[in-house]
Amino acid sequence: MKDQRASRRFDCVVVGAGMVGAAAASLLARSGFSVAVIEQAEPAPFDATRPVGLRVSAFSPGSADILSEAGAWRQIERQRHSAYRRMRVEDRDEHAVLEFDAAEFGLEHLGTIVENDLVQWSLWQSLLAMGGVELFCPDEVLEISSDRNGRSLRMASGSTLECSLLVGADGINSGIRTMLGIDQDYWEYGQYGLVSVVESETPNPGVAWQRFLEGGPLAFLPLSDGTSSIVWSLPEAEARRLAEIEEDSFLAELSDAVAGSEGHWPDRVVSCGPRAIFPLTMRLSKTYMARRSVLIGDAAHAVHPLAGQGVNLGLLDAAGLVEVLIGARQDGLDFTDDRVLEKYARWRRSEAEVMARGMHGIRGLFVPEELGPLRRLGMGLVAGSWTAKEAFIRRATGRNRNAPALARGSSLTDLLHPTTDTQKRVRNHT
Ligand SMILES: Cc1cc2nc3c(=O)[nH]c(=O)nc-3n(C[C@H](O)[C@H](O)[C@H](O)COP(=O)(O)OP(=O)(O)OC[C@H]3O[C@@H](n4cnc5c(N)ncnc54)[C@H](O)[C@@H]3O)c2cc1C
Repeated sequence: MKDQRASRRFDCVVVGAGMVGAAAASLLARSGFSVAVIEQAEPAPFDATRPVGLRVSAFSPGSADILSEAGAWRQIERQRHSAYRRMRVEDRDEHAVLEFDAAEFGLEHLGTIVENDLVQWSLWQSLLAMGGVELFCPDEVLEISSDRNGRSLRMASGSTLECSLLVGADGINSGIRTMLGIDQDYWEYGQYGLVSVVESETPNPGVAWQRFLEGGPLAFLPLSDGTSSIVWSLPEAEARRLAEIEEDSFLAELSDAVAGSEGHWPDRVVSCGPRAIFPLTMRLSKTYMARRSVLIGDAAHAVHPLAGQGVNLGLLDAAGLVEVLIGARQDGLDFTDDRVLEKYARWRRSEAEVMARGMHGIRGLFVPEELGPLRRLGMGLVAGSWTAKEAFIRRATGRNRNAPALARGSSLTDLLHPTTDTQKRVRNHT
């Protein structure tokens, strides 16, 4: 790593090299900005001989395109990953079913399941290998101040970094957000997500399966060896109980929860790895920007994992930020001007709000038993309408009309050297 004591100046400093911050840093550097990354802990090398980790995510095709432009997707594809073509959503007891098949929408697949550690490590490798980025790790920001030219960051190592733009990507408990004085709206669900890797009697046939149960949704995501990564959203006490009971009892309760899927996978669950629980919250920052500063990823928002969209939203933030900054530079504007940052902030915050409120509404609809008829009517209507299903798939694949151009087939080269065709894909986010 670099000399931690020197005081240096950069176009952008990204704080936090999780999946979102590291992707943003790579995209910014590839776009010609000088970038520093401050990360408190270096990611451990990915070890494919270890069992699959507990934190895995479903990456949309749009996210895969963004990670490809950030120089990481090829590395990820060489390791453990699992692309899935089918998705099945069931109301409890299978009274209503929604099914999606990639082929129906002319897609190769609907998403890819990858371990978070592999994505973060691949991005870190890409940052280490490229010019234009300096890594400050392990290190943390202690204090932020402003001067005429930008932001000045005093760090735990004793060094000072100066930058034109500060990018806060330090996760859900973002210290940068606190230091910038940005408040959040938040909803506590009193729910936890129980995660584990499980083996069913019949291997997962490559389907992302989700059932809405009385306590919350239960999702099975397909892994490359036929096992599944599960996320079971439950009231806190129930999640704690299920995390602690004997493995045999847990397997029996999980098998009961998936039972009744006549002729459909999943069948009985026969083994599981370690179990862990995480609190589920929804948070939305009141703004994504302050003077010469922006927030991206979980530092800006956290959504319920029932749609598996948290990291996907964050990668879209990274791509959206880079698109706006490149556009400003091409228009001869100062890329840190408030009007430029507001463009990013309004665009991406409104997208997160749609997602967060949508998840909140769906959750509210699926939990109470008395809403069963309404729920089944809604699912029936969507199942019978190709247009509704297509709109759902466009958002789930990260390729809705309002998504950044990098998620909709444009490359960084297209953005840096725009043709008329690229300009059509880049929305005017004013
Ligand atoms: C149970 C559960 C299941 C989920 N499943 C999915 C899913 O299937 N699909 C999906 O899209 N999303 C899912 N999510 C959400 C997803 O995990 C997050 O949205 C994603 O990890 C956020 O990435 P990030 O880079 O913004 O933040 P983080 O991953 O939190 O990264 C923040 C980085 O900042 C660093 N950092 C923190 N503080 C400092 C500091 N002071 N100084 C320097 N560095 C710092 C950290 O070390 C870390 O590297 C799930 C979440 C939960 C809880």
